[in-house]
Amino acid sequence: MDARGKTTQAKERPRRTGPTRAEGRCLCGAVTFEAGVPARWAWHDHSAASRRAHGAVYATYVGVYRSRFRFLTGEDCLSHFEDENGATRSFCARCGSPVAYGRAHAPTMINIPRALFDSGTGREPRYHIAIDELQEWTYLGEALSPLKGFPGVVWTRARGKKKAGI
Ligand SMILES: [Zn+2]
Repeated sequence: MDARGKTTQAKERPRRTGPTRAEGRCLCGAVTFEAGVPARWAWHDHSAASRRAHGAVYATYVGVYRSRFRFLTGEDCLSHFEDENGATRSFCARCGSPVAYGRAHAPTMINIPRALFDSGTGREPRYHIAIDELQEWTYLGEALSPLKGFPGVVWTRARGKKKAGI
């Protein structure tokens, strides 16, 4: 916008600047990788399979074309698990971090946990898979209060009836 509040149109679209790749690693650092930026897409996966595979309330993945992804180190440290649907989950055999998730119906894609990346991937996770499996114990942005005597710890005050299934 200019000083009078009008939008000025650029004659040419500016070339995309910024990082062209993002790196990531497992917890112990044995497995490192890089992916092209922007990634294809990103999403939250609430399915029971991904919840168990991550030991977390849900998993957030970044989908990358295999042609734009490569392991830098530690590919030989990966162990693989194939489930009954043909999905393959790979994890670091040294530290247990989930590293990659391949789905049988999308063989050109490799899906990487968002949390393993050191920087942005060019895609926000705006999609949700299996939202009907959202757990009651998922944090949904409720107001938090400091816990007296425990600096850095906050909690959600109990309100109303207890939730079922907790
Ligand atoms: Zn590791």
